[in-house]
Amino acid sequence: MSLAEGIVQLLEDQAKTQDFQRVKQVWLSIGELAGVEAEALEFCLDVVSRDTLADGARFHFVRQPGTGWCLACSQSVAIHARFDACPLCGKHQVQVTGGDEMRVSELEVE
Ligand SMILES: [Zn+2]
Repeated sequence: MSLAEGIVQLLEDQAKTQDFQRVKQVWLSIGELAGVEAEALEFCLDVVSRDTLADGARFHFVRQPGTGWCLACSQSVAIHARFDACPLCGKHQVQVTGGDEMRVSELEVE
């Protein structure tokens, strides 16, 4: 729930600085490694956005793949969990390089 509250707070902050009154659509970029359940988040957003500038807004979720850098192979690999082993060599020497965050990527406002 706090994640959804954070997003609505972010929208309200942006409304002040960019001078808009309503949010119609929001695109959220969610990394595969961010540990965010889109369905649960959607439900929470529905609840916390009520009576805010985002009341009735449509939320779209854009999945970003997880990527890491394997120190053993010295190359970029696709991973699906934070502590995944390298799919090439099977070693646990993979540093997460992408897909571990969630952010608002696009807004439609009025
Ligand atoms: Zn490797």
